[in-house]
Amino acid sequence: MSRAGAGRPSAMDSAVLEFVRRRTETTRVEVARELGVTAATVTNSVKRLLSAGLLRESGYARSTGGKRATLLRVDDSARRALGCTLDEDRLSLVAVDTTGALRSRAVLPLADPADPSEVAEVLREGLAIIAPGDELGAVTGIGFAVPSDLPAEVADALQQLTLALDVRAVRGTEAACAALGSFWSGEQAGSGLSGTLHLGSSIALALLLDGAPFRPDSGRPLNHMTLDPRGPECSCGRRGCLHLAVAPTGIADLTRTALTATQGDEAAAEAVMVAALPLVRVAAHLSSAVGLDTLVLAGSPVQAAPAIYLDAARQCFGDDPGAHVVVSQVQPHPCAVGAAVLALQTFLEAGQA
Ligand SMILES: [Zn+2]
Repeated sequence: MSRAGAGRPSAMDSAVLEFVRRRTETTRVEVARELGVTAATVTNSVKRLLSAGLLRESGYARSTGGKRATLLRVDDSARRALGCTLDEDRLSLVAVDTTGALRSRAVLPLADPADPSEVAEVLREGLAIIAPGDELGAVTGIGFAVPSDLPAEVADALQQLTLALDVRAVRGTEAACAALGSFWSGEQAGSGLSGTLHLGSSIALALLLDGAPFRPDSGRPLNHMTLDPRGPECSCGRRGCLHLAVAPTGIADLTRTALTATQGDEAAAEAVMVAALPLVRVAAHLSSAVGLDTLVLAGSPVQAAPAIYLDAARQCFGDDPGAHVVVSQVQPHPCAVGAAVLALQTFLEAGQA
């Protein structure tokens, strides 16, 4: 939002930082070998990351004959980034450190998520909880996972508030943030192409390549994709739109049904399975069309009844899913976690506060 264009991290520094984060502890030689770049490139990048306090040296690797290599780690005390998302009745905020680990969280009730002044006030309250005193001045930035139906006035109010507080802000779609939250929580492989099909304010697909979003604003709603031209009429004027099959009475309602299903209600379990099958079928088509390595199913109904969605995936993909299928279980709110990761990816730059 406010200064999203300023201070983009160097792609190489980000790649080195991400590689070290995934390995927990590694050496310059290993980084160069795994990233396929020269030793000099890694040495320069590591020098910048060390002086920025994002990496630290943590001893020596075991000797392999010659001089012992220095071990590198991400400095987890270095920075905090914040992530925020809005649901129909609440605002969720998280703080993550440079390793992506969750440091604090706050969930505040919202009476009306379409009311700009209420949303701004609740965000201000949440920030005071999660980054009290001068801590807010030290955060790397805040990411917002934006619902597809967020009114422009609410987006403007959030932007005005972050500008007034002098916090750098960036926006991503819910789906892109859910994908990042899943990736950073270790649910996906460290490299390759992954697709996250997210059930949130809309049904949307976001792609990550080696952990980075194609675009933070990718993940446009698929709600009115035609699934069955002879299906029921939709309010959009067409027939058989995807959302009518995947969440016939809305995502919030489907989530409630999914929770009921996990308490042993067989009718609810059947209703969720009936809704899960078309979702998984569409996911299978998208997955094979794009050539995904990992397919992630995410969103509140999926989190509420993961076993049903996994079962639907098994029924649909059979023994050969092509892609590795994951049912996302990120806690607390995957979109808020992913939004914080988006802020880290956007604003972390060597030499920058
Ligand atoms: Zn429609």
